Amino acid sequence: MSEELQKKLFDKKENGWVSLNEEEKQNIFDFSKGYMNFLNQAKTEREFVKMARKLADQNGFRDIMEFDTLKPGDKIYFVNRNKSMYLAIVGTESIEKGLHIIGSHVDSPRLDLKPNPLYEDTEMAYFNTHYYGGIKKYQWTTIPLSIHGTIVKANGETIDICIGEDEHDPIFTITDLLPHLAQDQMEKKLKNGIDGEDLNLLIGSIPYGEKGKDQVKLNILNILNQKYGITEADLKSSEIELVPAFKARSLGFDESMVAAYGQDDKVCAYTSLAAMMELENVKNTAVCILSDKEEIGSMGNTGMESHMFDFFISEMLNKLGVNRPNLLDKVFCFSKMLSSDVDAGFDPIYASVSDTTNAGFLGKGISLNKYTGARGKSGASDANAEYVAWVRNILEKNKIQYQIAELGKVDIGGGGTIAYIIANKGADVIDCGVPVLSMHAPYEVTSKYDVYSAYKTYKAFWNA
Ligand code: MN
Ligand code: MN
Repeated sequence: MSEELQKKLFDKKENGWVSLNEEEKQNIFDFSKGYMNFLNQAKTEREFVKMARKLADQNGFRDIMEFDTLKPGDKIYFVNRNKSMYLAIVGTESIEKGLHIIGSHVDSPRLDLKPNPLYEDTEMAYFNTHYYGGIKKYQWTTIPLSIHGTIVKANGETIDICIGEDEHDPIFTITDLLPHLAQDQMEKKLKNGIDGEDLNLLIGSIPYGEKGKDQVKLNILNILNQKYGITEADLKSSEIELVPAFKARSLGFDESMVAAYGQDDKVCAYTSLAAMMELENVKNTAVCILSDKEEIGSMGNTGMESHMFDFFISEMLNKLGVNRPNLLDKVFCFSKMLSSDVDAGFDPIYASVSDTTNAGFLGKGISLNKYTGARGKSGASDANAEYVAWVRNILEKNKIQYQIAELGKVDIGGGGTIAYIIANKGADVIDCGVPVLSMHAPYEVTSKYDVYSAYKTYKAFWNA
């Protein structure tokens, strides 16, 4: 009796794997192969956007700048400075009824090179770095790192580099002190154990000649010059990022999880992109945002705070031939958005930071966050009940398992995404993404079940 009543009244969070049949399981594993393969080729925002553009081109999308006019069914994109991208499919419904937007970010925590990166110390050559985003600095020492980026010469010539990913490439690393001599370091607080200024990448040790100062540095520059035709001065106009050289791998004897760098937020970016590639004949205009600079506050011309997104939508309004004063505002006010960013997955080893009745668990499906923010919801975009109900209805109608959670215990910490930026324009927005373990670490963990659940959610949202 009580069992039946419980079934009727309780909101049970079930393990998603349990109720799957073999075919569904296979779909999940197949999808995650594509995901891991993509991750291995898209470790930076530039690489992600390059891959996304290629995929979009293959699926009938074209640069909005190539269109004079737009009509329902047209598939378009705009690439913003090679680091962020907006894609859209024009809906059959009037655009004044609002857009259905899914927005994620393609930048991830990492180490950037300083503007004058190269130096030599006691016959070892180093690149000086400046970390990007919220990292635990000690995690970035003594792991294999690869170098990815773009160097632009004064004459405009652009050189893309990627070293450390191929099996035959060398890798690079940041050294740490041996425990035998680390007595003082080990007494420090964990956050001070490694100084930001000491995150220096070891890149060489052979001198060019026998005599003279900086012979190892000279040898490195000679190698770079032969390989890329650059000099030290060309590093000034470059964006070079250090990321873990690990490949994305299946995790666990049951291979149920993905371990990979940069899953925050490339897991939501990939799943939404994959969903958009399969869309046809949407009612409301479907928009997919792949933004940059989320990890450092969404500022700058490739971040979500910039007006580049407004420009893209205005360009659509112009080319649909409907634009008039204030229409952009109206379109945003009637828009609906999933801010698709990762959630903190509950980690039983660190259970004390989470409220278990309000945490996102691995393997229980996509995680909705009604609000983010910190302490008294400071800085939060809090989705209204009506909108949460609308999103719930889509998920329940499509039999997609989901959970609703918040990021950690009330007074412990908090986080933010791009949700508030689009909410400030007047749209209904809710955070919605994949739970992750070890978020912002060089190797992050997700459940393949949740990855697939995200893909199904995004597809259902756009088809709603
Ligand atoms: Mn994120
Ligand atoms: Mn993040």
